[in-house]
Amino acid sequence: MRTRFPPEPSGHLHLGHAKALHLSHALARENGGSFHLRFDDTNPETERSEHVEGIKRDVRWLGADWDGGALFASDHFERLHALALRLIRAGKAYVDDLPAHEISRLRGTLERGGEDSPFRGRPVRENLDLFARMGAGEFPDGSRCLRAKIDMKAPNVTMRDPVLYRIRSAPHHRTGTRWRIYPTYDFTHPLSDSIEGITHSLCTLEFEDHRPLYDWLCRTLDVHHPRQIEFARLNLDHTVMGKRHLARLVDGGLVGGWDDPRLPTIAGMRRRGYTPSSIRAFCERVGVTKKETSIGPAALEACVREELDASAPRRLAVLDPVRVTVEDWEGDDVDIEVPNHPLDPSLGTRTVTFGRELFIERADFAEDPPKGYRRLAPGRGVRLKYAFILEHAGHSKDADGRVTGISCRLVRGSLGGRVPEGAAKPKGIVGWVHAGRAADAEVRLYGPLLSVPRARADSLEDDLAPDSLRVARAKVEPRLAGAAVGEAFQFERQGYFRVDEDSREGRPVLNRTVELKDPWARRAALASKTL
Ligand code: ATP
Ligand code: MG
Repeated sequence: MRTRFPPEPSGHLHLGHAKALHLSHALARENGGSFHLRFDDTNPETERSEHVEGIKRDVRWLGADWDGGALFASDHFERLHALALRLIRAGKAYVDDLPAHEISRLRGTLERGGEDSPFRGRPVRENLDLFARMGAGEFPDGSRCLRAKIDMKAPNVTMRDPVLYRIRSAPHHRTGTRWRIYPTYDFTHPLSDSIEGITHSLCTLEFEDHRPLYDWLCRTLDVHHPRQIEFARLNLDHTVMGKRHLARLVDGGLVGGWDDPRLPTIAGMRRRGYTPSSIRAFCERVGVTKKETSIGPAALEACVREELDASAPRRLAVLDPVRVTVEDWEGDDVDIEVPNHPLDPSLGTRTVTFGRELFIERADFAEDPPKGYRRLAPGRGVRLKYAFILEHAGHSKDADGRVTGISCRLVRGSLGGRVPEGAAKPKGIVGWVHAGRAADAEVRLYGPLLSVPRARADSLEDDLAPDSLRVARAKVEPRLAGAAVGEAFQFERQGYFRVDEDSREGRPVLNRTVELKDPWARRAALASKTL
């Protein structure tokens, strides 16, 4: 078994590519076969070497090692050219002088058959001569092309004498000015697979109609014939996946770049904190089908959450801080040793410091608690994670009614969650940090990119959710100020976060990778309640 992943080096990889990549890679590896990477670089205008490097980095990061060096369709240009000559000599290809719009007019439609070009009957000798002169740069771009001679009445439009070579004077990112004619995708792709000895050529469903042409080429040229198997594209709700849509967002400045953590690009997902293995797990879970479907983001987020739950060290952080004064705490600060992970002792312990002035989450106090509220409220206590039980003593507000500070009393003997005799057992448990010691952090919270499940091409800009990025000025455990870019943590009760490359010395920037609980289930529950 020999498989390949054939990206066009004209953009950045996204989650859909990850699915295609993983499928071909895993299939080869599980069957003791080989796998390689081939850049389909037949478009001299749109391809750039920087994309080649970016794609290689992404493929490597996803864990798909390829055998041998990366290949390029352009490596095969000489052989493809020789194969084109063979077709011409066999009377199976001809040079057409019709302009592109005429070719497409005469191609017909699904309902109506095509018509022969007046140049279809050219003798072989003339075709060879013209093809050589096309290659020598004698004719302007688009003035002639080489077409396969198959059947203008074929029910499958792809079989109506498809174009095999076109004139392009643009230099190519790898072959420079060696070529003035370039093979089309439909000629290059199947024959590159053939030249490389691919056994299973896996591709997306839109190539199903092209398979008869690929079969025709391999048969007519009597070369190795890979088996093509099509599968459905991966579509993800509430985001965009196609290269063109992504480029529109990036070029229009509507997102921060190709690596914006809101995008399903590999670079964006990496920056957000998704891990290669969680992306692979997702690809496994969605499986391979022949039916076009779109899947909700919850499935992907669940894979990421499951993995980070097992591996991410825990930290305390407060995203929307409100100050708490423990009025009866007169002593010095105390260090409390706490585990970095509730289930995995190999992740070790650390100390967190408790003192008189703390921050807790604004949402963890309610002046007028709704039914079922389990956290701090007047007349009620709450347990601070790893530390003491506090009881509400009072609070202050500003002119707008916003709580500016809370004072509490400490329940003696309640360290580590013990409930002393005679004390009320608090229902809730909340996160906290030491006000004087906490570090400031910028925390970026992401929501869905689109407010609708599927973007409409004509209104992509209007479909963008207004709050897909919110920035919080958080207070975090001081040790997070020294965390390395790329490190992942669980903020207790908040979700999973990854240290971003925008972090500066002593001023961490963290991206929320996923929430702790599935926000999509919550949203659905809310929606059904309103109904
Ligand atoms: P886009 O639609 O983003 O422009 P593309 O198909 O033009 O993608 P290529 O670089 O040509 O991108 O694709 C390389 C491989 O990835 C192809 O085999 C293609 O079928 C596959 N692929 C692209 N998008 C998806 C997707 N959404 N789901 C599964 N496979 C995909
Ligand atoms: Mg493509």
